Amino acid sequence: MQRVGLVGWRGMVGSVLVNRMQNEGDFELCEATFFSTSGAGRAAPSQSVEPKLLDAYDLAALAKQDVIVTAQGGDYTTAVYARLRSSGWTGYWIDAAKTLRMQEDAVIILDPVNGPLIEAALGRGIRNFIGGNCTVSCMLMAIGGLFQHDLIEWLSCATYQAASGGGAQHMRELLHQFGSIHSAVASQLADPASAILDIDRLVLERQHAMTGEEVAQFGVPLAGNLIPWIDADLGNGTSREEWKGGAETNKILGRGAASQPGAVPIDSTCVRIGAMRCHSQNLTIKLRRDVPLDELVEMIAGSTPWTRLIGNQVGPTVAGLTPAAVTGTMDIPIGRVRKLAMGPEYLGAFTVGDQLLWGAAEPLRRMLRRVLEG
Ligand code: NAP
Repeated sequence: MQRVGLVGWRGMVGSVLVNRMQNEGDFELCEATFFSTSGAGRAAPSQSVEPKLLDAYDLAALAKQDVIVTAQGGDYTTAVYARLRSSGWTGYWIDAAKTLRMQEDAVIILDPVNGPLIEAALGRGIRNFIGGNCTVSCMLMAIGGLFQHDLIEWLSCATYQAASGGGAQHMRELLHQFGSIHSAVASQLADPASAILDIDRLVLERQHAMTGEEVAQFGVPLAGNLIPWIDADLGNGTSREEWKGGAETNKILGRGAASQPGAVPIDSTCVRIGAMRCHSQNLTIKLRRDVPLDELVEMIAGSTPWTRLIGNQVGPTVAGLTPAAVTGTMDIPIGRVRKLAMGPEYLGAFTVGDQLLWGAAEPLRRMLRRVLEG
């Protein structure tokens, strides 16, 4: 049996990954060892062959693994990956962090969309398989069929990204903020005769009065608010999260760098909202040619076995195309599919995906399974 080292297993992505591995019986196919950057020596989860957590910075312990799966984060990858490879380790490195994604010797994994590319890379001896950005992966799971038919001339995404995209601490912060806002108006809410503008004023006062500690993760209140910037400022008017849309999508599809002639131009505006889980996105697609709507719908529905078309009517949309409806499911629903007023070559659509499943843990889990099954 192959030895698999798991790092970052108690974070948002890691805990979803371990859950999925448990449900799919993956632990029965390997000898799993659990590592930690903060709790070495504590009791390990029951699936571990070692009774205690090993130190995630112990290169000798890591080097004993045939496969390392990490959802610890980019700083960890930066601190450990290169040193481990320089020590001569030749195992498979499967990682959720962005650090290695654009490296020549790494493949961004999303097998329902780029399975052949992954197989070709395995054949070439590639050992670095990196999960893609969550919005990119969820978008491709939704409209991969249109890319397959090479129908997309350009794409514009407006995202609505959940707090959990930032990790476990971000979710807790959002809930603390909701709680504190509720406390500030609890007595007025209990009184049906209280004035709504008073409630509104008190909510705003509480938001404006939040301390540095209360907004430590997001920088400003997210509860009852939104933040139209995610990740670093690239200094050219876009955020790193927005840059990933073009760069990673084209790499996943094997179309080369986003600036190359074969690449599809993709622009995004990425916005953090107060949802707990799931990234939603509104897509504006310029088609290469006018194609009847029913044919487009069929291509979209056939994108992957998990893509689920939602009828463009109010009932199915509000019932099935929301973060609360989609959280925890493997489905990638896509709805609001319609031709736009700009002309017959313009298509609109809205999709929601659990970014912790297809956007993070599931491509990693499936890659591990592929390696374990040989
Ligand atoms: P996270 O929840 O912050 O967890 C990362 C690590 O932080 C944990 O494994 C744990 O490692 C440590 N940690 C410290 N305090 C913790 C606490 N109170 N609860 C849980 N863990 C705590 O980060 P994440 O969202 O899973 O992201 C991990 C990586 O995946 C990042 O590179 C991220 O960019 C990427 N990613 C995230 C998403 C997403 O939607 N969140 C999607 C795609 C990719 P130790 O046990 O070693 O201390």
